[in-house]
Amino acid sequence: MKKLIVANWKLNPTTLKDAQKLAASIKRTAKNTAVLCPPAVYLSAIKYPNLGAQDCFWQERGAFTGQISPLQLKNLKVKYCIVGHSERRTVGETDGQINFKLRTLLEHKIIPILCVGYGTTVEQDDLEVTDVLRGQLEIDLQGVDAAPVVVAYEPVWAIGTGQNAMPEHAEKIAIFIKNRYNIKKVLYGGSVTNANAAQFLEQRNIDGLLVGGASLVPLYFNQIISI
Ligand code: PEP
Repeated sequence: MKKLIVANWKLNPTTLKDAQKLAASIKRTAKNTAVLCPPAVYLSAIKYPNLGAQDCFWQERGAFTGQISPLQLKNLKVKYCIVGHSERRTVGETDGQINFKLRTLLEHKIIPILCVGYGTTVEQDDLEVTDVLRGQLEIDLQGVDAAPVVVAYEPVWAIGTGQNAMPEHAEKIAIFIKNRYNIKKVLYGGSVTNANAAQFLEQRNIDGLLVGGASLVPLYFNQIISI
């Protein structure tokens, strides 16, 4: 079964030339579905079979300075959009806003990659984690057809820290999300590398990965998408 491997480039690289060079160095593999999510300013100039955005607004058009709409993304042939990343929640994004974004993305047939996990710490047990996730998912998915939504479980303490969650923990959480919310695909994200990716992909209910830092290193990301 093909896995969905999503590269979140965040605010990198700093020139279009470097972004195009990075995209050109990523394999076009049939083994898994690889998605590149460059900064939005590069989306129209990057060539790769599957592109995603890192965020969007919930209105299609109008007086919304600085925003990017799902309709604009659709017109650029963008197929996926990350929503609710912890780095956006940290600067004030709410679950209510995430819910609006999901609705508009689905209207435009863009697959949302909904990130959850904000607020967890390495010490928390599975029950505490599921409590936090319940609080997020119940609002994020309110009135939404959850079936096309991809959920990325990302423990905040694992993002960009070099400390990944245990694959068995991620598997348990993936089962919880699928059983409770009619979600078909769950990804794991948080310090995924070429060295640990296989352990997550071996889990039955982990359908792919959301990769930050390692997606900026072609050698590492090419290995991950070829597993
Ligand atoms: C992320 O960007 O969602 C992420 C998980 O980053 P990293 O792989 O660097 O931890």
